[in-house]
Amino acid sequence: MTHRILIIEDEENIARVLQLELQFEGYEAAMAHTGAEGLLQYREQQWDLILLDIMLPEMSGIDVLKRIRATESQTPVIMLTAKSEVEDKVKGLDLGANDYVTKPFEIEELLARIRNALRFSQKVSPKQVALTFGHLSINEQTREVVYFDKEIQLTPREYDLLFYLLKHPKQVLTREQILEAVWGYDYYGDTNVVDVYIRYVRQKLEAANPTPLIQTVRGVGYVLKEHSYET
Ligand code: CA
Repeated sequence: MTHRILIIEDEENIARVLQLELQFEGYEAAMAHTGAEGLLQYREQQWDLILLDIMLPEMSGIDVLKRIRATESQTPVIMLTAKSEVEDKVKGLDLGANDYVTKPFEIEELLARIRNALRFSQKVSPKQVALTFGHLSINEQTREVVYFDKEIQLTPREYDLLFYLLKHPKQVLTREQILEAVWGYDYYGDTNVVDVYIRYVRQKLEAANPTPLIQTVRGVGYVLKEHSYET
């Protein structure tokens, strides 16, 4: 199986050299030169690993990472950082980056870190990646959603929405927070779209079991909460 790597790096020479080296090693590699373009490519295709520069035009690598980790924690991310970016390095690791290399780096070191990150991500068995709350369970690797032992079929957007709620259980999330995490900064519609999709997801969950799980917090947003918590 050929691993697919997305390089998000604005210095075109570095990105180009990386792409050639990775292809030489047998990887499939694509490039994006801005944070926004990188996020778009990330969302449109399946990737086995992301190489993410921190200082990027339009949207920083840290912001790209935040948006990736808002909806999934599976795809390994290796940050490419400058020596002076210690704070960003720490922030990136806190936000769920798997590793980093400091520029200028030896290609052999980066390749070793890539192999290591890919090895680790393959070792995670589907069982370990199931997130659960009450009777709801989502398997991040297979994207299987189970509610009261019934499998729920969701569209990709509905899945992202429910997954985001599941990652923040019992926490009131505003429409704006949900919109930004699930639809992304580049979505200029109004927050009504959140209400519409919440309704779709609720209908599908309630078809399996009528117990309300996604609760409305009037004037604020939504919270994933089991009915029994409300007494
Ligand atoms: Ca840069």
